Amino acid sequence: MSTRPPRTTSPSPGTPTPLALVRATEDVLPLLDAVTLAPYERDRAARLPAGERRADYLAAHVLVRLCAARLLDVDPAALVLGQRCAECGGEDHGRPFLRDRPDVGVSLSHARGAVAGAAGMGPVGVDVEDAADAVFSPRVAARALAPAELAAVHADPDPARSFLRLWVRKEALVKVGVTTLGELRGTDLAASGAPAGRRSADGRHADRLLADWRFADWSSPDGRLIAAAVAHTTPALDGGSDLDAARFAHSFAYSGEQHA
Ligand SMILES: [Zn+2]
Repeated sequence: MSTRPPRTTSPSPGTPTPLALVRATEDVLPLLDAVTLAPYERDRAARLPAGERRADYLAAHVLVRLCAARLLDVDPAALVLGQRCAECGGEDHGRPFLRDRPDVGVSLSHARGAVAGAAGMGPVGVDVEDAADAVFSPRVAARALAPAELAAVHADPDPARSFLRLWVRKEALVKVGVTTLGELRGTDLAASGAPAGRRSADGRHADRLLADWRFADWSSPDGRLIAAAVAHTTPALDGGSDLDAARFAHSFAYSGEQHA
């Protein structure tokens, strides 16, 4: 990783490390009473079919609050979440934020039976995907990956998994607004563990933008889940199963891979 570009943003002393958690939905749901859902969240949950989808939605909205509560050392019940969609202006979906703490970035994601949340002082993005049924689609890959990424995925003995590893990073970048779903192919993460260049018309500027971001990658021990988080400083990404303890303990086991 000697080719890694120099860090261009340094955290201020005392700034807490961005935090991302991945948990099973069933481990998070019992903590529903620890938070105060906004009316739009209750409405949206009620409109989802009862069962897995509603449970995943609720658990993700709980977990993002637990992340922010731990980051800020506050009661999760006091945190008010809002969302705004950049495309349609809707306020019951889209990028999440804390109504009283615009300085804090939050992000959430759900897969089948699993959820992820993240919080940091500044923008943070997280994505979790279920790799169990992932089938590699060369057509989808060609749309989402830069040429060097595509070559690496095709050369991998497990292209579906290799693709998902890049996909969760790109989804996390979409959530912090660095790229969009339509620009994934131009966002090239292939060169090393650190973001490489983004090949676009104003390539130089975009390179600098990507170089400002740091990823944490994670996969579950059974291989079923793959996640990534991104922020200006490398997030702590924790997939342990100790959620009750984790709410109150500030130290927890780190599992997964980390790239500076
Ligand atoms: Zn929308």
